[in-house]
Amino acid sequence: MGSTIQILLYAIPVMLIFAWYLRRHMRRESTGLAALKSATEEGLIEPPTLHPEIDHKLCIGCTNCVAACPEQGSHQVLGMIRKKAHLVGPTNCIGHGACKAVCPVNAITLVFGTSRRGIDIPLVNPDFQTNVPGVFIAGELGGMGLIKNAVEQGRQAMVSIGKLLQTPHKNALDIVIIGAGPAGLCATLAATEAKLKYATVEQEELGGTVAHFPRRKLVMTQPAVLPIVGKMNFKEVQKEELIDYWRNVEQKTGIVINYSENVETVEPAPNGGFVVKTSKRNYNTRTVLLSIGRRGSPRKLGVPGEEMSKVVYRVIDPAQHQNQNVLVVGGGDSALEAATTIAEEPGTTVTLSYRSDAFSRAKPKNRQRVEEMSAAGRLRVLFSSNVKSIREGVVEIAHGDALEEIANDAVVVSAGGILPSAFLKTIGIHVETKWGTE
Ligand SMILES: Cc1cc2nc3c(=O)[nH]c(=O)nc-3n(C[C@H](O)[C@H](O)[C@H](O)COP(=O)(O)OP(=O)(O)OC[C@H]3O[C@@H](n4cnc5c(N)ncnc54)[C@H](O)[C@@H]3O)c2cc1C
Ligand code: SF4
Repeated sequence: MGSTIQILLYAIPVMLIFAWYLRRHMRRESTGLAALKSATEEGLIEPPTLHPEIDHKLCIGCTNCVAACPEQGSHQVLGMIRKKAHLVGPTNCIGHGACKAVCPVNAITLVFGTSRRGIDIPLVNPDFQTNVPGVFIAGELGGMGLIKNAVEQGRQAMVSIGKLLQTPHKNALDIVIIGAGPAGLCATLAATEAKLKYATVEQEELGGTVAHFPRRKLVMTQPAVLPIVGKMNFKEVQKEELIDYWRNVEQKTGIVINYSENVETVEPAPNGGFVVKTSKRNYNTRTVLLSIGRRGSPRKLGVPGEEMSKVVYRVIDPAQHQNQNVLVVGGGDSALEAATTIAEEPGTTVTLSYRSDAFSRAKPKNRQRVEEMSAAGRLRVLFSSNVKSIREGVVEIAHGDALEEIANDAVVVSAGGILPSAFLKTIGIHVETKWGTE
């Protein structure tokens, strides 16, 4: 009897610990599987940047990498399936690389692209200069993501550029910086500090990709040094706070950024240097820094009236369209999400125009939402239609054989983007396509 009690005394805690372990393991497995299933069903399977490739022959299932991923708090990025680590939310991976650092058996390699989809990475020298002398690249465009790296590269690239510009030049700028994300912002501060004649051109707003993060996203970044300002001492900060901090830096240092200006071409100038042609003017410059990130530029419709201020390429706040007649153009997920979120605002009349006859590229849940709202009369869908012109108070759309005029206060164009690699090739910059390689 005594020995039975003794056995139970030891066995019960062991069984409880085992049950707890089993439950935790099963919960982890099912979360990982569910995340992978959902990513696969929604077609979100291609990591956009540097990401881990896990060698399952080496992985011992310690889960260190899952715990170390800084994004894990807001989305499922890594998960455990059959006791091995997997990238279960590929599009949520932004290339922190924290997983590789904690793997005890070196099972993780950080790679670009996959065997299904290659990623173009420009070839850049250690001084950030490309094969086109005078054209430099800094930030995520060069392949290395993260805010801290972009800031650091913006600063270092400007040091290299400064070395090339020892003698002053009267008739041209020293540098045109393209893009005002973290890399371009930091390069602009460095150009100001070095007293260079610069112009910074940004197609949208300050902050680059960070400005596009979801509301209140917790941004993980390590301290980085901003020229003139000093240490940017954040570890964890909300997106809005970080953007406010950068706006404050912009204001206090007096740097000038030309917003809402898209660079269209960079061409060699007849007497050396470059002509940078934008949607607003031409700049003559001795050097160019491309800090344009990897998101690309929105594709334009190319119709009369597109330059009007009521035409935008991204919905910033659906509430600003209350009581408006809005035209959304496009058939991908961002077009469908823009149309449905705006249609939920009071007093809106929304038309969604798409040139094809079905939304075959969009996620099932977005297609279903459009169908429901359209059936409820809250959204009008015009398949096989093309915008012909945009005017004050009205848009003209070709729909079948008819030309229809629709009352209009705002146009949202979500017609996809032009990838940076196409832009780089027009400048003559060599790019290498990575298919799941380092
Ligand atoms: C969802 C998500 C979450 C992330 N979270 C984090 C995080 O928590 N911590 C972290 O460190 N990193 C994070 N990152 C990565 C980080 O945002 C990027 O690595 C960083 O913003 C890169 O900076 P950049 O200046 O090189 O490019 P970007 O920030 O992309 O800026 C490029 C700028 O160039 C402009 N531009 C492009 N083409 C043109 C043109 N032709 N003419 C004029 N302007 C042009 C763009 O409008 C843009 O403003 C995240 C990324 C994503 C997608
Ligand atoms: S840290 Fe390495 S060994 Fe541990 S689960 Fe991740 S990949 Fe496997």
